[in-house]
Amino acid sequence: MAALRVLELYSGMGGMHYALRESGVAAQVVSAIDVNTTANEIYRHNFPDTPLWPKTIEGITLEEFNKLSFDVILMSPPCQPFTRIGLQGDMADPRTKSFIYILDLLPRLTAPPRFILLENVKGFETSSARESLLRTLTECGYSFQEMMISPTSLGIPNSRLRYFLIAKALPGRFCFRSSSDILDGFPGPAGRCCRGDREEEEEEKDEEEPEAPGILYKLETALDAQRKRSQNADPSVRQIGEFLELGRKGRGGGGEGEREEEQEEEEEEEEGKALEVARYLLPAKTLLRYALLMDIVRPTCRRSVCFTKGYGHYVEGTGSVLQSCMEAAEMESVFKGLDQLEEEEEKLRSLSRLKLRYFTPREIANLMGFPQSFSFPETTSTKQQYRVLGNSLNVLVVARLIRLMVA
Ligand code: SAH
Repeated sequence: MAALRVLELYSGMGGMHYALRESGVAAQVVSAIDVNTTANEIYRHNFPDTPLWPKTIEGITLEEFNKLSFDVILMSPPCQPFTRIGLQGDMADPRTKSFIYILDLLPRLTAPPRFILLENVKGFETSSARESLLRTLTECGYSFQEMMISPTSLGIPNSRLRYFLIAKALPGRFCFRSSSDILDGFPGPAGRCCRGDREEEEEEKDEEEPEAPGILYKLETALDAQRKRSQNADPSVRQIGEFLELGRKGRGGGGEGEREEEQEEEEEEEEGKALEVARYLLPAKTLLRYALLMDIVRPTCRRSVCFTKGYGHYVEGTGSVLQSCMEAAEMESVFKGLDQLEEEEEKLRSLSRLKLRYFTPREIANLMGFPQSFSFPETTSTKQQYRVLGNSLNVLVVARLIRLMVA
């Protein structure tokens, strides 16, 4: 098969492009389009040879699209119109305009693409934008499959439940039996429903709560605590520690015959890491204010919550923080004792024992499946890095969907 010509719409930091590479499918991105300057800088830094159009999609004409003669569209339209915390403006939201434009364009293209993959937030599945999408695909003669998937179903310890649609132009057929239902997980025999994620993200608070196992030392329900425990005990999911860059034990060694120079080098490296860790420690104000609301994970945990674009800036609900001193018992004792401490300073001293820190952007990129070859340009601030990462996608999940789509 000749290399597929791919159009990457709303390209951001290039999550779709990385997924395409990871999929192993022979393909070439013929154009990536995004209006965000920061995202475009990151994209160019990593894909200097890909034509990147820093324009609004609705400003590109039918002729220009036709000239690209693409076989595939990969796209993640802006999700704010559909998120629970967004205003849910749906079709009326000006940010949906470009998506409506694409739907309008699709039937008018000289050669409509053979494959389309769309990613969006949970909430898209009940929007009228989705209804328009399905109507257009049906009218244009596509078969399609919708799914809700979180990376945990690939053994990655990070929840990021997202809506996905893959479409194939008829008479092409999928390699799996498609269904008109929105699937929970990947289609086919390997598909696996990830109840844990659904529960977490849908906050099914009305279920009957199990008996509290001892004292609940944080502001979490017994049900939350139980769900987290069972996620952490699932050996099919990898441990957070595998994705960390800071605070990991050195290369070991120190064994006999190790040269002094090497030892020194290692010590320097450790020192450098300690300084880096300090950069990411949660500030006192945040600790005192949000200690009870944070989702805290340890390197041995097999779960973390979705990292969103406010991470590192707003604490509540934007992503997990890492307890970098290892003991589980320690956390329990710190939180249990917290009530009894009256002075803020004492509370702070107690909380500091946990060495709570933010995940670094590189660590979040690791959890999201970005390869080691990915990097940020020096000009991108940490805050901007968290922001674009929060908008991006899990590369391994999309890679697998691309393979399923073209097979
Ligand atoms: N998949 C991307 C992220 C998509 S987020 C990644 O891996 O990073 C949505 C992106 O759409 C944002 O980067 C935003 O700048 C871009 N965008 C929103 N409206 C747009 C429009 N009308 N034209 C072009 N890009 C747009």
